[in-house]
Amino acid sequence: MTDLSSKTALIVGLGGLGCPAALALARAKIGRLVLVDDDEVSVENLHRQILYRDRDVGRDKIDVAAERLASQTTIQKEKTRFLPENALSLLKGVDIIVEGSDNFATKFLTSDAALLAGLPVVHGAGIRWHGTALLVRPQGKPCYRCIFEDLLPDDQAPACSTAGVVGPLVGLVGALMADLALSALASDWSRAGQVLSVDGWHRKYRAARFHPRAGCGCDSDAAKPEALSRNRYLTTPPCP
Ligand SMILES: [Zn+2]
Repeated sequence: MTDLSSKTALIVGLGGLGCPAALALARAKIGRLVLVDDDEVSVENLHRQILYRDRDVGRDKIDVAAERLASQTTIQKEKTRFLPENALSLLKGVDIIVEGSDNFATKFLTSDAALLAGLPVVHGAGIRWHGTALLVRPQGKPCYRCIFEDLLPDDQAPACSTAGVVGPLVGLVGALMADLALSALASDWSRAGQVLSVDGWHRKYRAARFHPRAGCGCDSDAAKPEALSRNRYLTTPPCP
């Protein structure tokens, strides 16, 4: 049995995915959670961001989340966005990254940083009735870029602010992300490289295994620190 008390997970984004994932990891008695977020609690997101209440609107998410989780694990607050200039320093002492951000810039940056730091990462996403979760090994093969980089042109990417997000759907995906993280911390990689998708409208669940993509940074020496600053997705505007 894995001793979780010595493990640290870094949560990128305390939104509809990060809230349930952080809660599940804290309840599983992981030793430490590093919370990375610079946003405030907003009334229109309360239905899916389960760590916050009406009275928290306007407060920093990171402060509220830390208060709710502090009785269950050690919390380290990092009130910032996950950025090229701070990514690698934030990952020091971390065992796994759980990425539930709402924009492609942060998702690709997290993928690059995880490869550079040699850390596993769990990515999650949710839009309308559809959600996905993906566990990536420390060496990638495949990584997030292998699977998603050429799949969706920037101008066709739906924005969560306009497309909407169903609350229970992201709760489900967030719990799945925590489960994948716990599996990885227990050295179970059987689901790495699989995109697990949830179709909440049709209530269908699917697992699709992907192969590494030729030319991706994870299969060559392209995974160098300068790759972080070359991240072309950093110009993608985040959801408000
Ligand atoms: Zn890759």
